[in-house]
Amino acid sequence: MPFKKSALALLLEPLRGYLRREPLLLPMRIVDVLAAILYPPGCPLCGRDLLRLARGGSRLCRGCDRSLGRIVRACARCAEPGAAPLCETCARRPPPFGRVVACFPYREDAPGARAIRRWKYDGDLPLGAALSRCLVERSPWRPTCYDLVVPVPLHPGRYRTRGFNQAAVLAHAVARCDSTAGRFAPGVLARTQATERQARLGLRQRAGNVEAAFVARRALDGSAILLVDDVLTTGATARVCSRVLLDAGARDVDVVVLARTPSTAKERA
Ligand SMILES: [Zn+2]
Ligand SMILES: [Zn+2]
Repeated sequence: MPFKKSALALLLEPLRGYLRREPLLLPMRIVDVLAAILYPPGCPLCGRDLLRLARGGSRLCRGCDRSLGRIVRACARCAEPGAAPLCETCARRPPPFGRVVACFPYREDAPGARAIRRWKYDGDLPLGAALSRCLVERSPWRPTCYDLVVPVPLHPGRYRTRGFNQAAVLAHAVARCDSTAGRFAPGVLARTQATERQARLGLRQRAGNVEAAFVARRALDGSAILLVDDVLTTGATARVCSRVLLDAGARDVDVVVLARTPSTAKERA
């Protein structure tokens, strides 16, 4: 049956082409899928807890979730740990945002900081999904209604090398979790210049580093905004972005971040 043979050959042609180009890729994919079925991936941070899938998708195991820690006695405006009711900076110069909600403290070499770095710099996306979930579960913003959830943008150059904007991943998770959390609006803010990576800079340099680095792409006409970022260190980025959003007509801006540096780490940075 020459007709049937040629039809089958036609159907298999894309697969044969794929195997010619990538001889090892398909067998590797099949092995990956089989391995995932036989040995479900564990907690994305420690690899343990094989019952993770049964408990519903990408999340940290209880031990890792606990290891991130909690923020206690935080500044009511910028969430600086241990600075209740107001930190020195906020008392001296009130920030343009209403308040910051942060999920856990950011300490160098603590599991939370290591997890964020592994997500951002090593591209561990399942870990990013678990951290996004952690942000949603730990943040108490539900009583307040926001119109827009706006991520702090990455400069396009850095976006191209990293392949994703961690703040946008978090903001998308927040906007999806609850309609009162607001609509995901990644195009509202844009970064106009590449800033030096904040982690390399000292306290004063950071403030100057982010000045004039952001613009609002549209008028905000009295919208309530939830600004989202991964880490808040000095608060310079949150201050500048909030100021830009308010100048564009936003009614008010609150901020939610995964992690907040305590003052001791801030002085060291
Ligand atoms: Zn774990
Ligand atoms: Zn403060």
